[in-house]
Amino acid sequence: MGLIVQKFGGTSVKDAERIFNVARIVTETYSAGNNVVVVVSAQGDTTDDLIAKANEINPNASKREMDVLLSTGEQISISLLAMAIEKLGFPVVSLTGWQAGFVTNSTYGNARIRRIESERLHVELDKRNIVIVAGFQGLNRYDDITTLGRGGSDTSAVALAAELHADLCQIYTDVDGVYTADPRIVKNAVKLDEISFDEMLELATLGAQVLHNRSVEMAKKYNVNLEVLSSLERKPGTKVKEAVKMEKMLIKGVACDDDVARIAVMGVPDKPGIAFKVFSLLAKEKVNVDIILQSIGRDGTKDISFTVPLSQKETALTVLNENKEAINSHSIEYDDNVAKISIVGAGMQSNSGVAAKMFEALYEAGINIRMISTSEIKISVLIDKEKAEKALIVVHDAFDFNA
Ligand code: ADP
Ligand code: ASP
Ligand code: MG
Repeated sequence: MGLIVQKFGGTSVKDAERIFNVARIVTETYSAGNNVVVVVSAQGDTTDDLIAKANEINPNASKREMDVLLSTGEQISISLLAMAIEKLGFPVVSLTGWQAGFVTNSTYGNARIRRIESERLHVELDKRNIVIVAGFQGLNRYDDITTLGRGGSDTSAVALAAELHADLCQIYTDVDGVYTADPRIVKNAVKLDEISFDEMLELATLGAQVLHNRSVEMAKKYNVNLEVLSSLERKPGTKVKEAVKMEKMLIKGVACDDDVARIAVMGVPDKPGIAFKVFSLLAKEKVNVDIILQSIGRDGTKDISFTVPLSQKETALTVLNENKEAINSHSIEYDDNVAKISIVGAGMQSNSGVAAKMFEALYEAGINIRMISTSEIKISVLIDKEKAEKALIVVHDAFDFNA
């Protein structure tokens, strides 16, 4: 007998029909002799709707209270799915994140899982119950509810698979696997049979929301047998694993992230220590800085610009403006009409000309590159937000994914 963790996202449980569809997948897996732990997200747009409701009352609500509110979405899903499974005549129990033993740190709204205290889970599995767990939530050491960040139910599922040494962790969603680009935008995107943890981690971090990036990080760390597949069509999905077969593909995928803002610290002295000051101020506020560009010094001054997630723009601007004198900047500017387009692939390490190909595609489409950053397995460019979809399509077209 095996143990399988199955996770179903919001669209997969959006109404009664979809919930029964999930109940059938789960009970078939159970009837085949497996123990099954199921993780579910909030139904459809519930999380967005809850955020809108909060904004009506208090747009500056504390993150603690936001987590109390947002965690309710997943609790609706677990009970409804358990009721559907009861109706099909199977033994089932639903558990909130804290009943399932999820202990997190205290970063409300973006908490990290510290451990899972799995006694209750084992008790229920020993009784041969199907266990339904609310994704995206846990409890911190003050016994307060926390959530794991948008898309975090994937991470709940992988964490459970790691803790319980599951044979397989299946992420069921509304597409039938991981593609070379978002298949809703790039119509000729190609489905991948498999992708390495490292490449998937880059794609997820750079905007491909099909998997929460921390779920991939955790799957790599604990070597979880991970698969992304469709809840609506019964066919093989994409395997995410350590090593994948050799192939000719230079790059594995293209991703777009428009949850980004560019900040520029203008006219700082062109002397040692300034970048250190700027970025240590940001680090103290836990701002995640991505692409960094420093202008050539002229007349003894220079500009430093960088990108941050949109949600951290205000924090970054506040701390920089408060310290404007200390860093000798004459102004702090920002632009949130930007998007980041990235190509990812381990194959680019050993091949020249990949960057040129990407830049040529953008040039031919008349899209200006505002910033560039590279690593061994990715190249990212910052462009105007309104050109993002076009850029995704032309960059994808520039590469041959059928190799
Ligand atoms: P769920 O609610 O099941 O968690 P998400 O909406 O979080 O689903 O993720 C699935 C979506 O990710 C797809 O509908 C697709 O539009 C988007 N997506 C973005 N990039 C990719 C990619 N490279 N491959 C597959 N899907 C992608
Ligand atoms: N419901 C949460 C969200 O919408 C978590 C998830 O779907 O994974 O972000
Ligand atoms: Mg998701």
